[in-house]
Amino acid sequence: MPEINGQTILYEYIVIFSSFSKECCRVIVAESAEYVNTFRLFSLDVCFVTCLLLFSPILKTIKREERWSPNPSSNMNGNYYYTMPDNFYTEFDTPNENRPAKDTSTKKKETKKKGVGYRMLIFCLVVSIVLLACGGTAYFLHRKGVIDLQNPFSSSSSSSRKERTKISNNGNVKALTPGGEMTVPVQGDLTGYTVILDPGHGGRDTGCVFPFNNPKYDECDFNLKIAKQVKEELQSRGAVVYMTRTDNEWVSLYNRIAQTHLICMDIAKEQGVLPFSSEREAELRMLLQESIDINEDSVASGGMGIMVGSGVGEDLQELMEMEYKLEKVLFLSIHLNSSESRTLHGTQIYYVTDDSIIESEHNQMRTNSEFQRSDFPIRDEYYGRNSDKNYALSECLYNCIVNEIPQFETNAHPILADNYAVLREHGLTGALVEVAFLSDDNDRERLLKDGTNASVAKGIADAIEIYSAQQ
Ligand SMILES: [Zn+2]
Repeated sequence: MPEINGQTILYEYIVIFSSFSKECCRVIVAESAEYVNTFRLFSLDVCFVTCLLLFSPILKTIKREERWSPNPSSNMNGNYYYTMPDNFYTEFDTPNENRPAKDTSTKKKETKKKGVGYRMLIFCLVVSIVLLACGGTAYFLHRKGVIDLQNPFSSSSSSSRKERTKISNNGNVKALTPGGEMTVPVQGDLTGYTVILDPGHGGRDTGCVFPFNNPKYDECDFNLKIAKQVKEELQSRGAVVYMTRTDNEWVSLYNRIAQTHLICMDIAKEQGVLPFSSEREAELRMLLQESIDINEDSVASGGMGIMVGSGVGEDLQELMEMEYKLEKVLFLSIHLNSSESRTLHGTQIYYVTDDSIIESEHNQMRTNSEFQRSDFPIRDEYYGRNSDKNYALSECLYNCIVNEIPQFETNAHPILADNYAVLREHGLTGALVEVAFLSDDNDRERLLKDGTNASVAKGIADAIEIYSAQQ
């Protein structure tokens, strides 16, 4: 969700998705805390309900097909890869992610959908005008940026995202924080911080590849190289760094998280804040070691260990509560992205919230056979994660990486909440960095250039410094 007047948004409605000229458009309505009153709330609600009534069948279709689509190479045990729809025509035509390339037989259908797109666009504009008339704020989001409908020709509105964090001449970073804009000197000092780096995929799991049919490049190799560079950069600033894999080897998702829990127990013990008796500590360590030894992700393998099931089990909850308190320990997963139609480029950051996980789990209960197994515990919904911190870190990461490599400014959504196992199953503040799109020619060329990994590493290290200053 791109920021809109970040510190004062009281609530927002994503009113509608629309497709127009192959561009993903949506209207976001935001009301600043200062201006909310009953009348405006009422008028916004009326608009929202009207939209839902008029377009609920369309919204349903989009919602079902747009989100939580598992990438064929992803693991079915919770690590879902969100692929941004390049345009909704293809989404409507072929809901299956293995969809074939469009051919002429779909042309008739497309024309029909385009009609719907125009109608929706006009409706969006009408809703926007009503909202503006009511004193609300309407922003129109499309793939080229954000248009503030109160000031549609302002050049700053479309680039407001970048202005959240700005490097000034003297090397300081200006960052918009919940407390207002502040200058954060990047001092190259991360003493006291521990970062767990998770280079995605490896071994039998290559991650995304390019070219699709005759792969020459594997995501897992890039991830490892970038992570090693990040490690070097963070260590040079005084941080302690762990890696969940250091070679091109298969490491299951739950192995990665079990390693993370064990590192956290060590840190908590060192700091004298380990909340377990020695028996309990030994028991938890044994359970976590089992996941590492099994090194598989399926429910049947037992490799999920204390992390199996929806919600959060008691053992895991105890560990997560310990980890919430380790504020100077962060978790970063490093990945590359891929888009089938090869139109998307740039950096994307994913994070988790309780809601993004709960929504995904509800969905998987209906669709994922692993969730329907008798040995897969279905628990109550779990609330308690540091969603705001995860978002704050994600925002710093996006802005600082793009500050270092402006070409990595994305034409997709820069920051998204989702449900990734490596972020879900522990209590550390964390994010998953999709550094760039391997499927995009410019991104790939840049990734292969000397110096790019160092720039990404610098961006990530700066982001952690700014994040830490914001806390
Ligand atoms: Zn990946």
